[in-house]
Amino acid sequence: MTPVSTPTTAWATIRKRGWPRDVTPNVVDYEAAYAEFSWEAARTALDGLPGGRGLNIAHEAVDRHAAGPRRDRVAVRWLRRDGRTDEATYGQLARSTNRFANVLAGLGVGRGDRVFTLLGRVPELYVTVLGALKNTSVVCPLFSAFGPEPVRQRLALGDGRVLVTTPTLYRRKVAPVRDQLPQLEHVILVGDEQHADVHGTLDFAHLVATASDDFTIPPTDPEDMALLHFTSGTTGTPKGAIHVHEAVVAHHATGTSALDLHDDDIFWCTADPGWVTGMSYGIIAPLSHGVTCVVDEAEFDAERWYRLLASQGVTVWYTAPTALRMLMRAGADVAHGHDLSRLRFVASVGEPLNPEVVVWGQTAFGLPVHDNWWQTETGGIMVANLAGCDIRPGSMGRALPGVEVALLAQGKDGRAEVRDGAVEVIDAAGVDGELALRPGWPSMFRGYLHEESRYEACFAGGWYLTGDVARRDDDGWLWFVGRADDVIKTAGHLIGPFEVESALMEHPAVAEAGVIGVPDPVAGEVVKAFVSLTDDHEPSDDLRLDIVGFARRRLGAAVAPREIAFDQHLPKTKSGKILRRLLKARELGLPEGDLSTLEAAR
Ligand code: AMP
Repeated sequence: MTPVSTPTTAWATIRKRGWPRDVTPNVVDYEAAYAEFSWEAARTALDGLPGGRGLNIAHEAVDRHAAGPRRDRVAVRWLRRDGRTDEATYGQLARSTNRFANVLAGLGVGRGDRVFTLLGRVPELYVTVLGALKNTSVVCPLFSAFGPEPVRQRLALGDGRVLVTTPTLYRRKVAPVRDQLPQLEHVILVGDEQHADVHGTLDFAHLVATASDDFTIPPTDPEDMALLHFTSGTTGTPKGAIHVHEAVVAHHATGTSALDLHDDDIFWCTADPGWVTGMSYGIIAPLSHGVTCVVDEAEFDAERWYRLLASQGVTVWYTAPTALRMLMRAGADVAHGHDLSRLRFVASVGEPLNPEVVVWGQTAFGLPVHDNWWQTETGGIMVANLAGCDIRPGSMGRALPGVEVALLAQGKDGRAEVRDGAVEVIDAAGVDGELALRPGWPSMFRGYLHEESRYEACFAGGWYLTGDVARRDDDGWLWFVGRADDVIKTAGHLIGPFEVESALMEHPAVAEAGVIGVPDPVAGEVVKAFVSLTDDHEPSDDLRLDIVGFARRRLGAAVAPREIAFDQHLPKTKSGKILRRLLKARELGLPEGDLSTLEAAR
């Protein structure tokens, strides 16, 4: 694998001297912070439910601020697609989420019941998430750009009992398959559109308006399931990663260390809450700090984004490499007409961040971009370039206080080699290994729903195996090398090739499919499918378009392949499994070499 960047590249360390805007970063001395940190101490930064009744994310994120001096501070400001602005103070958010908790309780929905959302970044999404957590129900967010198949599959796998969505999304993505979802009892529709004609649904606005705004959060065990985030593996169905209320300890602590949140910050996380970043850091971490969050309902637009940063006075900005590369393409000049002097800290996550972008940040915002690393299963940031410390452009940063990382020697399949239950920890710098974490941080996933063996397969020799390959330099900075498996990262979204292959094979002309990610200068990777056709079909441009359209309708634009190639001789193992890595090697013009020979023999 070719590393995204290595410690030997020419990018010089960015030395931090002085702090913008007279704000002292939360961590200045990394070694001291790492040595002093304990999760027990981190817990004391939170309140817990009154009367020692446990720990509930929504109490830490909303109610404790609503009961104190931050009551009238804006918790969330939503910049709506139509140009309107909606706001909720902590006090107002406490009441609206109480109402929604009462709505759920009134419907007989309670502890552990799964409440799904399929919504854009609208106020009702935030009210649903926090109200459901108050009610000790489990929140499972779905990305609104998913097509009907990913939506159906996740609702079925996650035992969705309640779904909150819009009339349009419901009609397009759920109504046609609702009879396949017997557990889905309540569909609650949000929005101004007429939806009196949508049978079997309830109206969000009406329910909330008629509910009481008085609600007492029931006792919540820190180990109670709170969130279910679906993620993708190389094979099989999506996996529902279980997170518990105790995760808020890590969200809060990493909000301090990795996002450098301070009390009066204006924070903008561009990630959609349909994915884990938008939940952990678009909602929970910043609200647990009592800061003001800005939410942009509309999609990316370079000019509008700069305007938003300036007009909202954003101080801390958490975004993604694809978005930064799109801004870079638009040119730094677009930034220059805007007053970004309040912006203090820019961080990025989700995919490799090229060193060029880190350095370009200096030109566009007057600040470098700080890369950090984590994944759905870790629930929170694990590795980061910190606000107060030097940056090595191209590096993901160092393990956060409270996080122990290791690189493990790889076997032939690229994953950590396990011999008699033991693994080999690589001590030397500059050697590739599977990135592993010592279990025990509070936001670590507690299982994959209904899939014990897939969960157990994530651990070996006392480590959690991340599936990523990295290397370390002499000073402990970590450098991302690539994935050890075939999952695809496109525009920051993790796509399981199997899910795409399965959908393609439902097209009558497709006999077999192999799906890979191919490099793209902006999105990192795009999804490409190689398909072989059944005997009664011939390759043609019309057929290609038909298959692309079919995949888009089933999977949604975010997941469907961007490119399709016909190939009647897909490379396979002896046992008939399609060799995605060989497809990739061919696509990239790399020598097929040992890897393909070894894999083909399996
Ligand atoms: P997800 O579970 O969807 O959040 O995706 C997690 C995966 O995204 C990780 O396992 C990595 O492969 C990738 N990823 C996240 N952050 C970074 C980063 N800073 N650099 C490179 N890859 C990253």
